[in-house]
This record gives sequence, structure tokens and C-alpha cells, in this order.
Amino acid sequence: MALTKLDQLYREVILDHSQHPRNKGLNESPQAKVIELHNPTCGDVVCIQLEVDDQQLIQNIRFTGEGCSISIASASMMSELVKGKHIDTAEMYINQFLQLVQGRECDVDLGDATILQGVSKFPARIKCATLAWKALEKGIKEEKGCEG
Ligand code: ZN
Repeated sequence: MALTKLDQLYREVILDHSQHPRNKGLNESPQAKVIELHNPTCGDVVCIQLEVDDQQLIQNIRFTGEGCSISIASASMMSELVKGKHIDTAEMYINQFLQLVQGRECDVDLGDATILQGVSKFPARIKCATLAWKALEKGIKEEKGCEG
């Protein structure tokens, strides 16, 4: 089966993020929240380090992890997208992304992560793509819980 040019482009973007992940490697930061999630079906592990300031802006987000290229690329794309954003905006992005990988319409620009729409055709890979986003979602919920 021949790859279309578009498929080729998607592959290259995913490969670029998985081979040169953005924001990978955790910082020495005692204030940061750390959330680790596992995807047992594929063996992926993603650990997110989240720093939210008094304005509820994501000051910094880093991740580390091991797993398939989709899980790493997705974490990289997610970190680029939400860095500097308000946690409510980040939650909205997470919800949109979860729709996107189910093959549903998405009305916001999710940056490079938009490319992961393709995983909707491969249900087994959806958990790989959503792992980092679910970790972020958990971190934001904890953050909001702390605000009382
Ligand atoms: Zn995976």
C-alpha cells in the first residue's frame, strides 16, 4: 500500500517528536507536581512534571517516559501545546484531544497533536496517544483540589 504524501508528512512529524522530544527530562523542582501513568496494554510509562503559578498558568511542564513512539511523540506535542497556558485552557485542549483520537470533530487548533487524529483508525493505539494527556488531566485536577 503506497503512502500518500500526507501520510508521509504525518509520519515524519511523529518521528521527529519521538526522536527529539520537546520538554523531556525532569527538572530539580520541589514545587512541581509529578504524575506517573502506565499503559499496560503497550507497556508505555509517562511521567509528567507540572508547575502551575498563582495565576493558574502552566509555568513549566516536563515529562519523562519510556514507550512506543506514539506515546512519546504525544507527550512531546502536549507539553508544547499547554506550556504557558491557563489550566482551564489546558483542560479544554485535553477534552478536545480525547475527542480527536476517537475520530470526532475537533474545533480548536491542537498544534502538532492534530496529526494524532490518525490513531482513531487504530483503537489499540489510542491509549498510547492519550497517556500523557490523562496524566496532565490528573495533575490539573489535583491542582484544583489544592485550591480548595
Ligand atoms: Zn504505546
